[in-house]
Amino acid sequence: MVRVRFAPSPTGHLHLGSARTALFNWLYARHTGGKFLLRIENTDRVRSDTKFLEEILENLKWLGIDWDDEPIYQSRRFDVYREKAEKILARGKAYREGEAIIFKVEKGRSIELNDIIHGKITVNTDNIKDQVMIKSDGSPTYNFSCVVDDSYQEITHVLRGDDHISNTPKQILFYEALELKLPQFGHMPLILGPDGAKLSKRHGVVSVEEYKKEGFLPEALANYLILLGWFPGEDREVLSLNEAVKLFDINDMSDVQAKFDIQKLKWMNGEYIMKKKTEELLPLIKDRLLVAGFDISSVADDYISKIVGLYKIRMKTLAEFVELADFFFKDDFTVDEEGKKKHLDNEEKKESMRIFADRLEGLEAFSQEGIEEICRDIVEERGIKAAAVIHPTRMAISGKTKGAGLFEIMEVLGKEKVINRMKGLKR
Ligand code: GLU
Repeated sequence: MVRVRFAPSPTGHLHLGSARTALFNWLYARHTGGKFLLRIENTDRVRSDTKFLEEILENLKWLGIDWDDEPIYQSRRFDVYREKAEKILARGKAYREGEAIIFKVEKGRSIELNDIIHGKITVNTDNIKDQVMIKSDGSPTYNFSCVVDDSYQEITHVLRGDDHISNTPKQILFYEALELKLPQFGHMPLILGPDGAKLSKRHGVVSVEEYKKEGFLPEALANYLILLGWFPGEDREVLSLNEAVKLFDINDMSDVQAKFDIQKLKWMNGEYIMKKKTEELLPLIKDRLLVAGFDISSVADDYISKIVGLYKIRMKTLAEFVELADFFFKDDFTVDEEGKKKHLDNEEKKESMRIFADRLEGLEAFSQEGIEEICRDIVEERGIKAAAVIHPTRMAISGKTKGAGLFEIMEVLGKEKVINRMKGLKR
């Protein structure tokens, strides 16, 4: 049975690269009917923080990743690491240096690794110096505790980032010294930033938490991340985790580094937002509005739903909704100053808009059809272009030059607000 694991160190936020590692391990376990286990690598007492641990676990769940069994915590297993290190010491393959226990690396050997993703990798032990197993403060090194625990958790496949390739030969030496069965290793090429360097903070936002805050849907982020390292075939790009579980084949994982493309992620997020039912988006959008400081306590769900319906094909992130649709929720909405100059600093246009507003007063049922008819009549009567009425009106009621269809916006916003704003009564 396949047994894989994800082993986060709770010393910071969950990085996109780590989230991708977790996703692939999870996909592999779920595809094969195996187990996906967690191991918390919190040996660094100073830098580890339960706040990060909670956030990482929460982010994994948010992405749709579940795990089998309770996670194991390295901080609780220090005596096990010491016992294993002393076993190696007793076999004459290590030495003490003060409190530390150090593994003696036998020179002149070549270690061969058959990587699932990269194929054969050979490393000469001449290039590996002696390895600390237990540090003088009593804590284990990453490489040593990793081997002890991968064996303890009976891990069959270790799938992790390329940044660990240089660790793997050292870990193989520990497997040998402890006479343990080797798992198979697969190293995933790192995610690169637009400039070709490893994706890092330097490139902007890199943690799952921040993407969540920016209004990305977990389905979209997970979908995008699995495309960075695996090709589902037949040019398929938008696929759910369930579909990915069915199609996943570890042999199809790419050995080339993938570039992180925020535009593509935004596009994908837009696709998922568009496909969601308005009822599903409603609670997410309400959260956004609250976080952005809008008082929606007396705003009807029905009103918000209509606006969501108008904008779900236009927003790429949930956060964008607030920018696009602020004018539905407050009178002091943001105004595009350039658009204002272009469309509202003109007496003739203002005059057309005034006439439009006057005629709207007489409209009983404030429906988009009725509004459009009046607009068309004015255009015809005055022999002007429709744009000469539409742009100023859009600007006056929304402060924007773009958005959903003007007449739809007007209907939803309601007669009183529309007319007041067109007449410049409330701004
Ligand atoms: N805690 C290590 C990391 O986050 C785990 C590496 C591994 O998967 O072995 O990089």
